[in-house]
Amino acid sequence: MVKINEDYQKLQGSYLFSTIAKKVNAFAEANPDKKIIRLGIGDVTRPLTPTIIGSLHKAVDEMADEKTFRGYAPDLGYDFLRHAVCENDYRARGCAIDEDEIFISDGAKPDSGNIQEIFAKECKIAVCDPVYPVYVDSNVMAGRAGDYDEAAGRYSNIMYIPCSAANGFNPEIPQEIADVIYLCSPNNPTGAALTKDELQKWVDHANANGSVIIFDAAYEAYISEADVPHSIYECKGATECAIELHSFSKNAGFTGLRLGYAVVPKALVRGGVSLNSLWARRHATKYNGAPYIVQRAGEAVYSPEGKKEIKGLVDFYMENAKYILEGLKKAGYTVFGGVNSPYIWLKTPDDMTSWEFFDHLLEKANVVGTPGVGFGSCGEGYFRLTSFGSHESTREAVDRIVNI
Ligand code: PLP
Repeated sequence: MVKINEDYQKLQGSYLFSTIAKKVNAFAEANPDKKIIRLGIGDVTRPLTPTIIGSLHKAVDEMADEKTFRGYAPDLGYDFLRHAVCENDYRARGCAIDEDEIFISDGAKPDSGNIQEIFAKECKIAVCDPVYPVYVDSNVMAGRAGDYDEAAGRYSNIMYIPCSAANGFNPEIPQEIADVIYLCSPNNPTGAALTKDELQKWVDHANANGSVIIFDAAYEAYISEADVPHSIYECKGATECAIELHSFSKNAGFTGLRLGYAVVPKALVRGGVSLNSLWARRHATKYNGAPYIVQRAGEAVYSPEGKKEIKGLVDFYMENAKYILEGLKKAGYTVFGGVNSPYIWLKTPDDMTSWEFFDHLLEKANVVGTPGVGFGSCGEGYFRLTSFGSHESTREAVDRIVNI
């Protein structure tokens, strides 16, 4: 009899979005006349921009001609894209990253879920609380998380770094030392962003203790403040302790196209082994490369026209973020995020729990958001709204919320 991977049985994650879907469906069925506005899920809504579409069409035509047809992509990505990433995201920012340290992938979710494979099972993992659930769940599947404590809402072997209003929802360096530390800045779900000085402290901490930081920069394009770094490699010594993950989803709208990359510096060595070589081996064995046409679309993101258009997309969503932030503030809500991030993180009013506020908002304003507690126990009493909607629906949602 085949035995399943029992660690999968310890997963709790699907509870959040399935519960949301159930509640919203039940409400919609009972209230067919109500127009529900969804500001819950972090998916983009704007179409791909003309330059991206042009590059996709051109690449598709190349695939139709035997002289330019491409089969398997190189495992680690096409040189044209690794070059564009390296020049624009690193060298232009003074970061000493080489093209062979960049691994093109199909997104930051797969990378953030898969990266744990190159670490030993007994490694101690640290995550922020609240947190993007993939970091925790992928370690649960790998058997690294221990047992789930229902009452605490936490796994016994995972180290949780509490993020609260008191520290601006940025993690503070803990006493206990972890082997692998997941950081996400700008943050999903809280919208908080670490300044360069704050991030430098994490880099120094990791270097002093031999830890490795997995730095998820999926929302880098939303940074608006000058003291917030766009890459962890802007910090001194980061190439010796950090892996960085990027996505084309939230800047260029590739959530459906799928493209991202990981940076694993050659200087990042543990136990005498370069993690770059481990990740290259993993990629070569388990991954057959992002599609040629999508990598060409990724290259177009870095063209002068592409950059202008991508800025237009980010500005569009950030206009929504500003509207939500200012509207809720004016109405007396305590709100965070929305400045370097498309997420608005609000304190629920009248000491409501996250789920009580979810029900309240759904019933009274017909607006769907995400209960903060779904991202970790420190998210209790908070609520996430996203700015990825249209201007019209976002404005209507805010107007409804403030008029409850
Ligand atoms: N990392 C974080 C923190 C996210 O919030 C998300 C998406 O919501 C991702 C990664 C996923 O990125 P991708 O679409 O590139 O897989």
